[in-house]
Amino acid sequence: MSYSIAIDGPAGAGKSTIAKLLASKLNYIYVDTGAMYRAMAVHFSKNNVNPLDEMEVDRAVQDVDIQIQYDNGVQQVILNGENVTGLLRTEETGKMASQTSKYQSVRTKLVDLQRKLSKTSDVIMDGRDIGTVVLPDAFCKIYLTASSKARAERRYNELVEKGMECDFESIKNDIESRDYQDMHRDISPLKQADDAVLVDTSDMDIDQVVDVISSIIQEKMKA
Ligand code: C5P
Repeated sequence: MSYSIAIDGPAGAGKSTIAKLLASKLNYIYVDTGAMYRAMAVHFSKNNVNPLDEMEVDRAVQDVDIQIQYDNGVQQVILNGENVTGLLRTEETGKMASQTSKYQSVRTKLVDLQRKLSKTSDVIMDGRDIGTVVLPDAFCKIYLTASSKARAERRYNELVEKGMECDFESIKNDIESRDYQDMHRDISPLKQADDAVLVDTSDMDIDQVVDVISSIIQEKMKA
């Protein structure tokens, strides 16, 4: 039997950073489901699929094969035989992913893949609907969030450190519109599962968040 931990929350709450650290601490496999929606988005962009046209998206989904591999413990996303991991983290791909993740055909394909992965290994999986839809029986569910101001500050600092020019207000607006899109779609909207523990990281650093979640996991393991 394998064990699953679900971490959900809005964009920029620190889910992937925290999930990666916890996965290596606990010897679980980290599954980044956002990367799968992003890989779909790369396929749609490459093939000029209109994200507003559901029928066009449905047709394009039929041509998509996504596989997940691990290279020294790091998730690699293979789209129709090509490793696209390096192409996933752009703003444009994130926007396309958020626009197309609302469609049933996209979600069905990726949720199947996510459930298969959880059957073969102990996983920490992060996303928007992991505790509510993908792994409702996960033994530990965390809803990780932070104010949009705190999330925008983190993103702004990251970009400044990379020497990129950026505007704080537009980053904050992008985050808020992505939140709105993810929370208000009809299928699998982002929301806290009834049995998830809320962790607000607005005033915490990474080590503090890892400590808080590690103790929640320990409590759940004892229960
Ligand atoms: O987490 P990340 O920013 O990489 O996710 C990109 C987009 O994919 C999200 O804005 C969301 O629309 C979608 N997504 C989703 N369900 C998940 C993971 C991501 O709908 N489990």
